[in-house]
Amino acid sequence: MLEAHARHWAKSLLPVYHRLPAPMRHVAVSMRGWPLARLRRSAWAREEAALGARLERDPTAAARCVVERLRAILVHAAATVPWYARAFAEHGFDPVAVEGPDALRRLPILERAALRDAWRDLQSRAIADDDAICTSTSGTTGSGLRVRATPEAYARTWAQQLRHRRWAGIAPDEWRITLFGAEVVSRRADPRRLWVYNVPDRQILLSAYHLAPRWADAYRRRLERRPLAVEGFPSVLRDVAHVIGPARPGRPRARVVFTTGEALTAEARSDIGAAFGARVLDEYGQDEKVGFVLECPAGTYHQVTEYGVLEVVDEAGAPVPPGVEGHLLWTGLVNPAMPLVRYRIGDEGVVVPGGRPCPCGVTYPAVAPTLTRTGDSLRLAGGRRVSPRLLNQLLKECRSFAAAQFVQDGPASVTILAEPAGAGAAAEASALARRLEAQFGGAVHFQSRIVDVIARDPSAKRRLVVVRDGGGADGGGADGGGANGV
Ligand SMILES: [Zn+2]
Repeated sequence: MLEAHARHWAKSLLPVYHRLPAPMRHVAVSMRGWPLARLRRSAWAREEAALGARLERDPTAAARCVVERLRAILVHAAATVPWYARAFAEHGFDPVAVEGPDALRRLPILERAALRDAWRDLQSRAIADDDAICTSTSGTTGSGLRVRATPEAYARTWAQQLRHRRWAGIAPDEWRITLFGAEVVSRRADPRRLWVYNVPDRQILLSAYHLAPRWADAYRRRLERRPLAVEGFPSVLRDVAHVIGPARPGRPRARVVFTTGEALTAEARSDIGAAFGARVLDEYGQDEKVGFVLECPAGTYHQVTEYGVLEVVDEAGAPVPPGVEGHLLWTGLVNPAMPLVRYRIGDEGVVVPGGRPCPCGVTYPAVAPTLTRTGDSLRLAGGRRVSPRLLNQLLKECRSFAAAQFVQDGPASVTILAEPAGAGAAAEASALARRLEAQFGGAVHFQSRIVDVIARDPSAKRRLVVVRDGGGADGGGADGGGANGV
């Protein structure tokens, strides 16, 4: 259902959409937004929001809910997911007897690569493709992963975002401004308006493709006219912040800013807070719908226990104590279409040692995701920035890369490096280069090169974007960013 919408949108409708007169674009976006808006107002979302409001202040009830949901999803996985039927049998694991998250330690860790390779075997036979929503997530290194989720999982995920709004004093039906990667206004256009309305979802989609000084005033006017809740990826919001500069005292450009999808560095938080004149509250979730962590107004990252079980482990897979950083393993509790158990998503973090309750009153465990995924923006001629998020968006359609990297050699020259995963990588890389070149009106030269291995930087991170010395149009330094979709 939604998949069909999304694919049409991306592949065939986008050029048509960009030729529509502005009012028709609002209609098109609203029509596309309608099914999701309906899910977001469903009984599932309301029920999960009400449950969450209770559990966040009742640790006993929260623990009971985790056990019930965990047992239910493991029983379901054993009965309907071939991969888990085999794994549980091999390990003599009886899901019915599960009495708590500790039981998970007897099961193997599921790596992201294994999920990609054994994808079909990890889907529930009980949920047909027609009854699921399929999306594609790109991760940091350009290797696509398909995710299947039930509509109910989407609704229960939305409830977490509603909770975040409630914490910030924002009502569920208030309008918001969104700065994600969709090309809502053609990047080739010189538009009068930089946004479109998604009426059913009360959402104003602001372009992330016009981040250059000549549009700065248009962004400032839109944001200052009526400060709303703003949501977006840190890399995109930071680029907006650089273009619009700090807000004047007493002239906020947002009521609150919600960041998601990428690591939020201290510098990005400070730049975004200053530019929007508002508090920044971060959240951590994933396309795979396995875990949710929300930053409360007191600055604590709270892990929503009824959404997913979190383990933090070392290289060898052994649990690390609170206060020690490790790999995050998630066991999702809300998506029966593709249940993921002990899934190593590629992010790191630390459980904050307990003791002092958070002043906000929420009793969920405190977790600090120290996300390692990094990436700079491309800085192109004319002061235009293109965030790793937007590049990831384009990489989603590339199926033959094991990894990809954008190397900026100069303000008007970018090389796409691709590490092949299958046949056709060279052709796909050169097609991507041609597409990007056309999209930037030929002002920037994109070339592609196939490499055996994409080098990692000294901290072992593999960057999506590398800006060579003197390469950037505005010569800025490197900092964090990079990520996973929503
Ligand atoms: Zn708190």
